[in-house]
Amino acid sequence: MQFKDIPGNDKIKQHLLQTVTGQRISHAQLFLGPEGSANLALAWAYVKFVNCTNKKIDDSCNSCPSCIKISKLIHPDLHFTFPTISPHKQSKELLGEWKEALLENPYLSVYSWLQYIKAENKQGNITAEESRDIIRRLGLKSFEAEYKMQLMWMPEYLGNEGNMLLKLLEEPPEKTLIILIANDSEKMLPTILSRLQMIKINRFSDDEVKQFLTAKYNVEKNRAATIAKLAEGNLNEAIFHIDEDEQDLLEQFKKWMNLCLGKSAKDLVDWIDEAGGMGRENLKNFLRYGLHMMREAFMKRHQINELLRVDNTEAEFVTKFSLFIHEQNLESINQELTSSIGYIERNANPKIILMNLSLFLKRSLIKLEPMV
Ligand SMILES: [Zn+2]
Repeated sequence: MQFKDIPGNDKIKQHLLQTVTGQRISHAQLFLGPEGSANLALAWAYVKFVNCTNKKIDDSCNSCPSCIKISKLIHPDLHFTFPTISPHKQSKELLGEWKEALLENPYLSVYSWLQYIKAENKQGNITAEESRDIIRRLGLKSFEAEYKMQLMWMPEYLGNEGNMLLKLLEEPPEKTLIILIANDSEKMLPTILSRLQMIKINRFSDDEVKQFLTAKYNVEKNRAATIAKLAEGNLNEAIFHIDEDEQDLLEQFKKWMNLCLGKSAKDLVDWIDEAGGMGRENLKNFLRYGLHMMREAFMKRHQINELLRVDNTEAEFVTKFSLFIHEQNLESINQELTSSIGYIERNANPKIILMNLSLFLKRSLIKLEPMV
């Protein structure tokens, strides 16, 4: 991972480079960015640049021994901490899986990670044992690098025991670089938060997502544009969409809405039975697509055409559907869909979720003629 591999974020990259060239590296930092942003990838590229022995003006060399080891995640002075699940108490017990997941996709979400390690309904956690381990290993001398590097991904999962890290964050041992990588600072321990230098990272733009998909995954241009619209700046979502057919999503969504608006309870129940088996990740994605279509229908109703993000086949459906989406139901439908996605992430039964949602939509989708 080099800076040049990461789309966009030019100002942040510039700032990070300057901290190194100007020898103003802050020893405890927070890379804060939403899910699917470049926060983790930037931290990875940054520690690589910091320790590169043959730095270029704007990036690491990618070929010195340090760069090679950090690229492969096998550098003895590069330590990772991330949420684990029982019976594992420390990140080092899942290090193999972590490296695989990160090398495959440095934009992964915590949900994808927990799926990756087959967490099922177990909650992720950063344990007290892990915090003790961090203190112990950062107290040791580095093996070969100038800087010992500790990256903690998702400090939101650190419980109150995390307070044992305060002293370390306040006065880190010399030549130590600690980077916490988070999505939501409000879910972090405030005591920890206040001891970090914060770098704020934005979500990607549609163009950045598009370019990334065409350059890195050879996705055809128009399709990359469609995926970019759906992913809304979340590169993890965008990568997930690559293997999927949006036409299927539209057909499936149309069918569902017709059933919700129709009279046959049996057909609706049959559909739920089938759709409930599509798998959690697909179902989440389907509901996200639903959210997207609700918003599009609302904008169509209000003729906010310049913000519409639909292709031609979708436009036809959205025009018809816009009769049913208005001020009186948009917000509650959005809320219902969003919380359903959250329930699915927390392992609720997909069929029950779809049934509740369908009943809710049956009540909420009321036809209102367009205002003229
Ligand atoms: Zn190098």
